[in-house]
Amino acid sequence: MSKVFTNPKVKEILDKYKTLWSLYYLSGLSHWDLETYMPEDGAKVRGEALAKVSSLSQEIFLDKKFTQLIKDANKEANLNDQEKSVLRLLNRSLDYYEKLPAEFLEEMSKVTSEANVIWRNAKENNSFKEFEEILGKIIDLTKRKADYLGYENHPYDALIDLYEEGWTTNDVESYFDSIREPLKEILDKHMKSDEYVGTHKLESEPYSKEKMEEFNQKVLELVQYDPKRMRLDISSHPFTIDLDPTDVRITTRYPDNNFASSYASVVHEFGHALYALQSSEDFSMTPISGGTSLVIHESQSRFWENIVGRSKVFLSQLEDKVVALSPEIKTYVEEQGLEGIHNYLNIVSPGFIRVEADELTYHFHIMLRFEIEKKMVEGSVKVSELPDLWNQYMKEYLGVTPPNDTKGVLQDVHWCHGSIGYFPTYSIGTFLSGMWQTAIQEELGNFDDLISNAEGIKKIKNWLKENVHQYGSTYTMKDLLKKVLDREFDVEDNLEYLRGKFK
Ligand code: MG
Repeated sequence: MSKVFTNPKVKEILDKYKTLWSLYYLSGLSHWDLETYMPEDGAKVRGEALAKVSSLSQEIFLDKKFTQLIKDANKEANLNDQEKSVLRLLNRSLDYYEKLPAEFLEEMSKVTSEANVIWRNAKENNSFKEFEEILGKIIDLTKRKADYLGYENHPYDALIDLYEEGWTTNDVESYFDSIREPLKEILDKHMKSDEYVGTHKLESEPYSKEKMEEFNQKVLELVQYDPKRMRLDISSHPFTIDLDPTDVRITTRYPDNNFASSYASVVHEFGHALYALQSSEDFSMTPISGGTSLVIHESQSRFWENIVGRSKVFLSQLEDKVVALSPEIKTYVEEQGLEGIHNYLNIVSPGFIRVEADELTYHFHIMLRFEIEKKMVEGSVKVSELPDLWNQYMKEYLGVTPPNDTKGVLQDVHWCHGSIGYFPTYSIGTFLSGMWQTAIQEELGNFDDLISNAEGIKKIKNWLKENVHQYGSTYTMKDLLKKVLDREFDVEDNLEYLRGKFK
């Protein structure tokens, strides 16, 4: 075992934890396979196997000997930061299991796996009615969950803390209050400018899938990925799976047209992957291996996707791969230059779909989900009223009304998973990415210079390793910012970046 952990009680816990870790590891691998290569009809049996492994893990976790070890270790003095956070994270899980009755967790898992198929069909049939009943059940279960977990001011507090430790409803409200008006201002100004175009020719342009694979390969080379520790595959929804700092997998997709979405997924998921890859190997097979929080994770993916990937300087290194995508795209680049490609990757347009949203409108999609989720758990909106409420918010925030529920209230998978309280982390993480850019510029110099060459990109990766990644899950988001930046979370950095970019 690594030299980091010296306390005998913590060492004993970590030794026992390896059994649990192995189950998590194999479930993760099995999930990756399910999303990438598994033949379709295997899904049902795989689902059952994974559910069994999940209850087995819970049983092992709640074994009296193991939980007693945790409780005993809590009394230990003079623990180092890593040992403290091993206990902090195990106590969080223990608290969760102790507060939520086993029957409740079983019911939640049954209802949500049933909901998945119902949601999929409802979305396909554009029929919220089909989803209404089961969503009602999920909302009731979520309210019960919040009550079991306990909260001070708002039931949503109990939920948000599950996804972002230490954040409250109040924190999220003041966060959105701080970005709503400034973002609207940047958006309005941008959309009223003479050069503004809301659509782009390349959005509907087909491309060679084979050439796009070469394009993505080049992207990974530019960011100097290590093929011995990371791989890229294909899935319908891009994701990253972090098995260990020695084994991280990402995926992208290849839609028939609009190559930007394939590219954006690769750089985005690479950001998540790098966090895991550069987490200290000393923490391997322990609860603190890999990224600490959803917000920090998203700050890494958005940093690479938006700040690096959508910049002119980075794009200029991909020009030969862009023109190879198709003769039409080649002609386009000859006529419009790289500027045209840069514009294509940065089109701002209020639309219906969150995952297709640009850097400015994205946050309004999250705001409306937050408002609606709060109302759900307060019980101040009926399930049947959700489609109308959704459309009202779309009109208010983005000035558009979805033509149907498939492009409205039914678009996201999160609620059918029971993940209520998750959405805000996407937006907060995106804003946090601006703080990393500021710190990197202050320490390493001009950002465009850095991302224009291999040496500079290496410097950025090392900076992220030293200041963020190496710690794994040792610190919460708030503590990490204090420790490495000596700052509190602040939205100004990212607002400045957006103001500069969307003049
Ligand atoms: Mg992400």
